[in-house]
Amino acid sequence: MTKKQNIGTICIQGGWQPKKGESRVLPIFQSTTFKYETSEQMARLFDLEDSGYFYSRLQNPTVDAVGAKIAALEGGVGAVMTSSGQAANFYAILNICQSGDHFVSATTIYGGTYNLFAVTLKKMGIEVTFVDADAPAEEIEKAFRPNTKALFGETISNPGANVLDIEKFANIAHKNGVPLIIDNTFATPINCRPIEWGADIVTHSTTKYMDGHAVAVGGAIIDSGNFDWEAQHDKFTCLTEPDESYHGLIYTKNFGNAAYITKLVSQVMRDLGAMMSPQNAFLLNLGLETLHLRMPRHCSNAQKVAEFLKAHPKVKWVNYSGLKDDKYYELAQKYTPEGGCGVMAFAVEGNKEDAIRFMDSLKFIAIVTHVADARSCVLHPASHTHRQLSDAQLQEAGINPDLIRLSVGIEDVEDIIADIEQALQVL
Ligand SMILES: *Cc1c(COP(=O)(O)O)cnc(C)c1O
Repeated sequence: MTKKQNIGTICIQGGWQPKKGESRVLPIFQSTTFKYETSEQMARLFDLEDSGYFYSRLQNPTVDAVGAKIAALEGGVGAVMTSSGQAANFYAILNICQSGDHFVSATTIYGGTYNLFAVTLKKMGIEVTFVDADAPAEEIEKAFRPNTKALFGETISNPGANVLDIEKFANIAHKNGVPLIIDNTFATPINCRPIEWGADIVTHSTTKYMDGHAVAVGGAIIDSGNFDWEAQHDKFTCLTEPDESYHGLIYTKNFGNAAYITKLVSQVMRDLGAMMSPQNAFLLNLGLETLHLRMPRHCSNAQKVAEFLKAHPKVKWVNYSGLKDDKYYELAQKYTPEGGCGVMAFAVEGNKEDAIRFMDSLKFIAIVTHVADARSCVLHPASHTHRQLSDAQLQEAGINPDLIRLSVGIEDVEDIIADIEQALQVL
């Protein structure tokens, strides 16, 4: 293929490339294992001297086809599919951080990721410093130390819907000799491709828009292939010096610009095993086939809902970067000119109880612990997803106790607005 395909074509044609007589639709390779003819052939696989399938914890053809599609969508050299978005962010960090290391993250990130970083990784000896993503670069750089190994942020944050200045973050990371890891779950590669703005690694909770139908939990890690690990040889010896568990193989030497993603499969996935199942990969692939059709509808619906909320006397505030007077409007115009996503945050007049009364009065817009799928839904982070966080941590993560997260689906927007309107009348 000479010309690079457009994004909508990759959504449908990317990944699975059947040969003569093979299944046109991505088949589910429901097999843990794969056959070889000689002991020698198998041995070479274990030494990473040949590529090929041998055990589905490491690689499976169905899962790999979906990974290849997602890598193409994001513009990376390769992707690893994981059992969840949590596993994706965990592995993305763990692939280059070990006990004694440190990384820097935006504070405004998904609650589950915040807990992973602040509590679980800390117990493993990996320390994080949270920074205000809107602060000037000089402020953010103060968080860097000699043992800092990465910078992390979300394109559009969950649940606050803040937009990240990816280019600013990329410059800070690169100036300090570390890769930028971006969780691109909310924008999806349809609306933003962080690698084009300097991100080195991209992660996803594919559970959200990519699947889009709320049927399969999953995650992805995409390697841009752009970060020069050898230029930071001493910082990333895990990639630039021999791996004893593979007879002294050196990832940067043997796999070039696919060093990071190869290590992630052959070491982190081998040892920790949170891989995506072939069934879930098949379902995810169906979702991806319409991602480019669904995202514009999510965005246009959300824009109308945000404008409606903004004008309503019982609504205190709305955060949606598509609104002209939104704090993140300019950044959104730069990074997501076609629209960001269907998720917004707002508050109704009154207190926390009024927020709950509003949500309980909604008819088809459901209260669910989910976001970013075809069906409109709401959630109150302070009493649901983020209830483990203290008030101070909530504040730090940019979450007001009265914040309602609204995920606008792809139903008819008139009906979505009508449901919201009748629930507001209860207040
Ligand atoms: C949901 C979410 C995650 C976690 O993903 P799971 O698939 O639920 O494990 C990570 N990051 C963001 C931005 C999310 O919205």
